[in-house]
Amino acid sequence: MSKAVRVRFAPSPTGYLHVGSIRSALFNWLWARHNDGTFVLRVEDTDRARLVDGALAQIVASLDALGITPDEGPSQGGSYGPYLQSERLEVYNGHADKLVQSGALYPCWCSPERLTALREQAQAAGVAFKYDRHCLTPAHQKSLDEPHVLRFMIPKVPLVVGWDDAVRGHLEFKTTELDDFVAIKADSYPTYHFANVVDDYEMKISHVMRADEWIPSTPKHLLLFAAFGWDAPVYAHLPAVLGPTGNKKLSKRDGAQSVQEYIDEGYLPEALRSFLASLGWNDGTTQEVYSTPELIENFTLDRIQKSPAKFDKERLTWMNGLLIRQLPLAKLNQRCEPFWPAAASAYPASYRESVLALVQERLKTLNELPELTDFFFEDPKLDKNVLTKNLEPEIAKQALEQIIVVLPDHWSESTLEAAIRPLVDQLGLKAGILFGIIRVSITGRTAAPGLFETLFVLGQEASKRRLQAALTVLTP
Ligand code: GLU
Repeated sequence: MSKAVRVRFAPSPTGYLHVGSIRSALFNWLWARHNDGTFVLRVEDTDRARLVDGALAQIVASLDALGITPDEGPSQGGSYGPYLQSERLEVYNGHADKLVQSGALYPCWCSPERLTALREQAQAAGVAFKYDRHCLTPAHQKSLDEPHVLRFMIPKVPLVVGWDDAVRGHLEFKTTELDDFVAIKADSYPTYHFANVVDDYEMKISHVMRADEWIPSTPKHLLLFAAFGWDAPVYAHLPAVLGPTGNKKLSKRDGAQSVQEYIDEGYLPEALRSFLASLGWNDGTTQEVYSTPELIENFTLDRIQKSPAKFDKERLTWMNGLLIRQLPLAKLNQRCEPFWPAAASAYPASYRESVLALVQERLKTLNELPELTDFFFEDPKLDKNVLTKNLEPEIAKQALEQIIVVLPDHWSESTLEAAIRPLVDQLGLKAGILFGIIRVSITGRTAAPGLFETLFVLGQEASKRRLQAALTVLTP
């Protein structure tokens, strides 16, 4: 039987969760769900200087908002915790001791000044920096009570360290090109490399799916696994997420914003999931929008692409509109809860659903709701100039008087149309002009949903009141 699938999302709480990282979270979550496996949230917070207040809460809230729920993590708990690396120092130091014993880790007392000078020399010579093993010389060694770091000794053999990446195929690096990186810092905190490997082992991670910017770290990780005598997980490095033209990094303007901002703009979690899944993955068909069960069913590592993905916010908005149109009204109404204009709270759900039915076709993001619907909840402010934009004030006034007279007692779309349409001929006005004055009177704007539907939903009382108010505006 193959190993249970256990994957992890391992963010560092150094800022908000941007779309590239949440894509990694989603792929891990989908792979766990596809295999009935486990999705772990592990917080890599050992770089204390880069911690940002509130970042962890934001990461957790973003995952929650997208429904990418961890099975194990700081809030969920689990058998392999704690899940905050800062609470696991004993675990790292215990493992570090073993590698000190075996000689794979060695102490280094070099001062920051010395290391900076070495770095500058390497840069001037145009070569990659490699620590010169100064502290391996007994004459340079100091007491272990003096502040020092522990470095990993890149072994002489093998000459090449490679792996079969589930996305990229076979990758390899020459060990002679690797630096004796720091594993444990002077403050006893592990570095990213060390903590990451120890935890992937301790947490029984079967697959590491992460952005391909981490590829240069992987040979170091594999050497650490080998030094411990542990089996390494399967690595799958995910393609970069670029801007819509595919030739530069995703910028703020292209949509590099936080997950929370997308939620606040009224993007549906299911639209974000479907869109993010398409950033570097497809199921080999031409299908563009996937429900989450479809994603779970179809997500396999061999369909992850190597080439960078293009992030096109317009495509996301299109997908969002499409999924909004597919929602039953009652569901859409629930989703709209935080987006309704304030005045809507005084109206019953049934009224709001009728309003939604009129705008659902046009709604692309839920934050457009106030703009599209506010007049359903509050009488518009009428502007004489807009009312008389297309016809003389006197004619507009006469038209409104006639309209008010013919309004039916029985209020339905068809009775409204049957009552109002004949006025086109009677008044000798074009339908567009006549309907326009009614539209402006009841909505305050020149573009709105269909006239008879709008009148019907507004109801007899509000419609009459607004037409009467327009008449007053036109009456000198
Ligand atoms: N903490 C790393 C990050 O911030 C995790 C990289 C990995 O998944 O190994 O992205």
